[in-house]
Amino acid sequence: MAQCILKIALDTPLNAVFDYRWQYQDGEDSGGQGARPQVGQLALVPFARREVMGLIVGLAEHSDVPAEKLKDALAVRHQLAPLSAQWLALAGFAADYYQRPLGEVALPGLPKNLRVLTTVALDRAIKKLGKLEDSHDHTPLNMPQLNPEQQTAADFIGGAQGYQPALLYGVTGSGKTEVYLQACAQVLAREPQGQILIMVPEINLTPQLEGNIRARFPGVMLATLHSSLSEGERMLHWLAAHQGQARIVLGTRLAILSSLPKLKLIVIDEEHDPSYKQQEGLRYSARDLAVWRAWQLKIPIVLGSATPSLESWHHAQGGRYKLLELRERAVKAAVLPAVKLVDMERDKPRDGLTSALVAALKLRMERGEQSLLFLNRRGYAPVICCESCGWISDCTRCTSFMVLHKPEHRLRCHHCSLEMRIPHHCPTCGNVDLQPVGRGTQRVEEGLQALFPEARILRIDADSTRKKGSAQEAFDTVHRGEVDILIGTQMVAKGHDFKKLTLVGIMNPDTALFSQDYRASERLFAQLMQVAGRAGRAAQTEGGSAAEVLIQTRYTQHPLYSAVVNHDYDHFATALLEERKQAGLPPYLFQALLRAEAAELATAIEFLDIARGCVLHPGITINDPIPMTMTRIHNVDRAQLLVESPSRPNLQLFLKEWMDALRSLKTRVKWSLEVDPLDI
Ligand code: ADP
Ligand code: ZN
Ligand code: ZN
Repeated sequence: MAQCILKIALDTPLNAVFDYRWQYQDGEDSGGQGARPQVGQLALVPFARREVMGLIVGLAEHSDVPAEKLKDALAVRHQLAPLSAQWLALAGFAADYYQRPLGEVALPGLPKNLRVLTTVALDRAIKKLGKLEDSHDHTPLNMPQLNPEQQTAADFIGGAQGYQPALLYGVTGSGKTEVYLQACAQVLAREPQGQILIMVPEINLTPQLEGNIRARFPGVMLATLHSSLSEGERMLHWLAAHQGQARIVLGTRLAILSSLPKLKLIVIDEEHDPSYKQQEGLRYSARDLAVWRAWQLKIPIVLGSATPSLESWHHAQGGRYKLLELRERAVKAAVLPAVKLVDMERDKPRDGLTSALVAALKLRMERGEQSLLFLNRRGYAPVICCESCGWISDCTRCTSFMVLHKPEHRLRCHHCSLEMRIPHHCPTCGNVDLQPVGRGTQRVEEGLQALFPEARILRIDADSTRKKGSAQEAFDTVHRGEVDILIGTQMVAKGHDFKKLTLVGIMNPDTALFSQDYRASERLFAQLMQVAGRAGRAAQTEGGSAAEVLIQTRYTQHPLYSAVVNHDYDHFATALLEERKQAGLPPYLFQALLRAEAAELATAIEFLDIARGCVLHPGITINDPIPMTMTRIHNVDRAQLLVESPSRPNLQLFLKEWMDALRSLKTRVKWSLEVDPLDI
């Protein structure tokens, strides 16, 4: 019997590596439970009275932990190849950069079944994968003839050697997907064992791309990684990637931490999308990590978008990213839609719809074409109120309102999920006449149904697609042409290739114009360009309507809208970048946000005040603690402290020191740090 000490990282906020004892048969050849463990392997260990999975990050002969306190590891997952040194370096980088313990970064993304399954069951699952092999036939099928701009882009990406980031800036419908697929074909032809990671910002976009990939590469083993897989599926797909069998891995942001030992190309579609940022726990940017991963592996990466993030645009302008442009729509005779502003001051809306929009909808109905109405607010009305005493339906637990959900007869808070029946009368004065104020997608649906009783209307939002698979079903219905008018939130705005859509109506985008958030205009612009880009993606049919986008607004003179009307991303982005430079904002400045939560706001602020003073560092600006805009959620008050520096390395140095100091503060305040925050 031989014995060693396993140094193990665990998924816990404690910034430490834990020692466990492990006994094994010396001299036995590799593979079995008897072999000496290796760094990068997974082990089951007892921790806080539970059995948890840990990652072996080191081996030692002796431990400083007293022998009577040292626990034995329960099992080592010998049947799995160790996670590679590169993968460990990726997790290590993410942990350092986002100031979290390694275990919190490395472990949560691993399939639960690696822990739960018995050795026998795990062996069986792995055997099942031995059988599923990539066919080694990577010949693509039915590849369309690319236009010259597409071909140039595909050849650049497909032929790139070493670290080569590229920004594929192509207008909506310019055929970015075809460019990715061609580039993939080139890489697979050159590297038959190679792997490719393709990421999309949201789960609803995976089926469309998955379908494309399968149709083009029937012989290529594809694995998908996203949050709606069952645990069994997740483990098989993860293993297929980890064992190098899957050649193409398609996933959402969580796929960035998957193990891909033969990774040769990374594709980030819709790279501007805020969904690439994880908004809780480890708040990482999957896009930024992807760029780091490509750099580490010295492989090409392509970031695609019709509306690149200012960060990426800045890099492309400065030459750090190669700019690849697609200026026209790929389908011959499909042109960008004409964008028109409808002045809501002159054309007063009824039920939220101006007469211009109603007329345009009517025309589409007559011609059997599809329309999309975009309203980024779900529910029936954002609030109900009593007109006699002024009572409004605010949430008792949050700084927000209870949203009226009429089909469900409920009031719901979208922040803390508090729910109640719609009151029969005003809780304050007893008045029975409570009125909905404002408009959400449900109310628009109701109004439209009254206006066009014969129309087939479909609403797609988080409420209508709660059931697993229902979103896909809804999108399929649209693709089959069984819908006349589609109403939706941002869920419908992204990436979908709706072929029969010739009209997009944008109902009320104005509120975002006056947001406090300096990123609001970048986001609104991207959102409008993206949703507008759903119209006119197929060639105009004879006698059919030209594609059109109507934006209802009270601010027809606003420069943001002019830029949308002119499809003018370049100028808009360049002007925004100039403003950011003048104002000293990202991407010219680097930020981190310390958040604190407590039952009382004062407690949270007090903690931030202490935090503020605990480390001094030249070149770092530490702002005053302030309550967050949405101060109270679920009876918890929240405050924040913004830290800034023009130098990223300097900010990183400071954060490291600061985190050590903060971890040693004894406090009951719950706090967390976010590096490169998007919402401040
Ligand atoms: P994007 O992602 O840039 O918005 P897509 O990749 O969805 O655009 O392409 C838009 C449409 O154009 C799709 O229906 C696609 O099949 C079609 N398409 C793309 N490239 C070509 C091409 N070279 N020839 C013909 N059709 C193309
Ligand atoms: Zn009242
Ligand atoms: Zn609430």
